[in-house]
Amino acid sequence: MKIARLSDLADAATCPRLVVKVGSSLLVGKQGVRRQWIEALVAEIAAARARGQQVIVVSSGAIALGAARLGLDKGGRGSLADAQAAAAVGQIALSGLWAELLGAHGLTAAQLLLTLEDLEDRRRYLNATATLTRLLDAGAVPVINENDSVATQEIRFGDNDRLAARVAQAARADAVLLLSDVDGLFDRNPAEPGARLLPEVRGVTPEIHAMATGGSSSGMGSGGMTSKLQAAEIAELAGIALAIASGLHDAPIARATAEGIGTLFLPRRKAGARKAWLGGRLRLKGALVVDAGAANALGRGSSLLAAGITAVEGQFQRGDAVTIRDGAGKVLAHGLSEYDADECARLQGTQSADQAALLGYAPRSAVVHRDQMVLL
Ligand code: GLU
Repeated sequence: MKIARLSDLADAATCPRLVVKVGSSLLVGKQGVRRQWIEALVAEIAAARARGQQVIVVSSGAIALGAARLGLDKGGRGSLADAQAAAAVGQIALSGLWAELLGAHGLTAAQLLLTLEDLEDRRRYLNATATLTRLLDAGAVPVINENDSVATQEIRFGDNDRLAARVAQAARADAVLLLSDVDGLFDRNPAEPGARLLPEVRGVTPEIHAMATGGSSSGMGSGGMTSKLQAAEIAELAGIALAIASGLHDAPIARATAEGIGTLFLPRRKAGARKAWLGGRLRLKGALVVDAGAANALGRGSSLLAAGITAVEGQFQRGDAVTIRDGAGKVLAHGLSEYDADECARLQGTQSADQAALLGYAPRSAVVHRDQMVLL
């Protein structure tokens, strides 16, 4: 059964496995941890479990909490070193709290701290999948955050929205609920008069992106609507529903699912697991720019041939994941390259008949084979 409305997120039959992401501003207030609020949310998680749903929590708040305890300014986001130190202090307190509060309902918390590479590298991704699956089957509630104390700028997710979408993919979850300090996606800046909450989004189009306004409104998290839409793109490609709802009210899961207040991004299609992983990759090693003819051919399901390539960017090896873009910069696909970057540059614009001479060996049938490519 497929998820078609917000109420499906509370249905064990349509949504047996749910990821709930909790934003920093909900977990940490001016006085420190918002314990009562978290207690109420944990009661809702326990209720979901009692209905037969498996729940994974993606918890932000480590940096915000640690900054408060260490007395660091800018919410601990003034520098990378501040964020790393704050996260180290905040994470231990946060995990302890989740374990204690879930434990009060007889639930066992399990902590996982992930870095970007844990989900970008195929082998490590499968390893995370195995761990998550085992934990859920054993009855635990995984509580996940980015490993902010060791992640450096270049190798960070930086926001827990995309992390939640990638975790959902790795755990083969049915839906992600992003609890934030906004009701959902509005058709314009929600502060403007007449702004309307979109109940449902079918496909994160450029028009939808244009509705997103800037960064985190609380100034505590790093997300904002932009990263939530990126998360929705990852989820929809993987056939996972994603909802944005406000956590500023009591019983936020019930408010979203029973009252239907929030925005639901419907899953677009169910890509095979491997293609969904490839499509959701965030850091690619390089790019192949293609002409209009090749762009059309890709849209019809063809492989990418050297003749249609107009430029090669980055340094990548054979087998690395690359972006395929059109001349205007629009990302068309992700795929695994059959050649390294130098060979691609040598082959670009050439026909197969001429390639053996250029390479010194028999060419492969395509630069990116359609089986190793996912259209975006
Ligand atoms: N991982 C960060 C933290 O625990 C939060 C990232 C975000 O704001 O989404 O503080």
